[in-house]
Amino acid sequence: MASKRQIDVGGVKIGGGAPVAVQSMTKTETADYEATMRQIHAIAEAGGDLVRCAVPRDDDVRALERIVVESPIPVIADIHFNHTLALKAIDAGAHCVRINPGNIGGHEKTGEVVEKARAASVPLRIGVNSGSLPKHLHELERESPVEALVAAAIEHVELMDKLDFQDFKVSIKSTNVPNTIASNRLLSQKIDNPLHLGITEAGTKWSGSLKSAVGLGTLLADGVGDTIRISLSTFHAEEEVKVAWEILKALKLRERGPVLIACPTCGRLQFDMDTVVADIEERLRAYDDPIEVAVLGCAVNGIGEASHADFGITGAKNEGLIFAHGKPLRKVPQDRLVDELFAEIDKSLSVGRVVVDENKAAEGAAWLELIEEENAGELTPERLAAMEAAAAANQALTEGQALPMAGAPKAKRIELDEAASPTEGRRFSRA
Ligand code: SF4
Repeated sequence: MASKRQIDVGGVKIGGGAPVAVQSMTKTETADYEATMRQIHAIAEAGGDLVRCAVPRDDDVRALERIVVESPIPVIADIHFNHTLALKAIDAGAHCVRINPGNIGGHEKTGEVVEKARAASVPLRIGVNSGSLPKHLHELERESPVEALVAAAIEHVELMDKLDFQDFKVSIKSTNVPNTIASNRLLSQKIDNPLHLGITEAGTKWSGSLKSAVGLGTLLADGVGDTIRISLSTFHAEEEVKVAWEILKALKLRERGPVLIACPTCGRLQFDMDTVVADIEERLRAYDDPIEVAVLGCAVNGIGEASHADFGITGAKNEGLIFAHGKPLRKVPQDRLVDELFAEIDKSLSVGRVVVDENKAAEGAAWLELIEEENAGELTPERLAAMEAAAAANQALTEGQALPMAGAPKAKRIELDEAASPTEGRRFSRA
């Protein structure tokens, strides 16, 4: 379950029921102040709550001193092997320091970092990596990599206990998704400290996003994990942040910006949906409001399954329809669909409600009805789903189950089943 303890990284709470924090890591040389700051701003603008910077040299420490002051989000110094750099990073004002006690040079040096962190009230991230487990755990690693990872993490936690230090989070990292899931599940049952989740070297934007969504999504749905980083092989760190947010939004753990819904398309598609969806997705990045926008490839099914969306478009050969909350707003020429959709969104957001021109709405409704009538015999995926739902309702009726009240609002946003949701009680809006 979510960790009991909480730490504070430069004002961002981690664990203890706080919203799952999104972090990324700069891919620049930290010593290159300008390039690093550019990347930190890109990460922050994409929604990063925290940023981590590698500090492998003294030059990086010198740049870090300026970066921690100028950064719009708290900065975590990432240290490997050289404990003196951890001490210097704390002096430089880092909001958190990541160390791996297994590769920092022994308990004594870890103790030195802990004492410095305690004096400066700087939290630590204690990391365990499948690639650097201590020698005495190698045999266990061969038998059970998961138990070995957890054993290494517990040893570090016990060392912190001995040092009477609790201001830390723990991370277990592995390139293996099932092992990451199993080890974090096990560790979360054994310790109360916040957990940082990530899949090490997950891969490219495509495969790495999927691996991370499976691994981190599974854990987060279990209520395990307090901060996440998606590791992708791209120089554009903000892409990691975008993926992290999609995972959190999909699980309804946090809300941030619009949600785009789009049909998968099929042989009935009558316009260049790939381009239109990509264009809409790109333009939506400029919005902070958590609106739902739907794109349907054809008007054969009417507004159908997208009727819960705040705004949407459905296209046909030469014309398309803009709709809001299940009601037509107006039809527009095909090549104006996207521009007019955003004009409607902007107008509605500026006045706080959907503005309806009754004449145009009636014209749009008549156009939609005509297309629906012309295609009444088509067995589209949506109609098949509707038929299945109707059959299930009939079945329920014959079995004596209650059906929804007649006249209940149709254009209702799909609600979560609160009682059954694994993320119940952990949802937060970023606003
Ligand atoms: S029938 Fe459904 S899946 Fe096919 S293009 Fe129309 S809306 Fe999209």
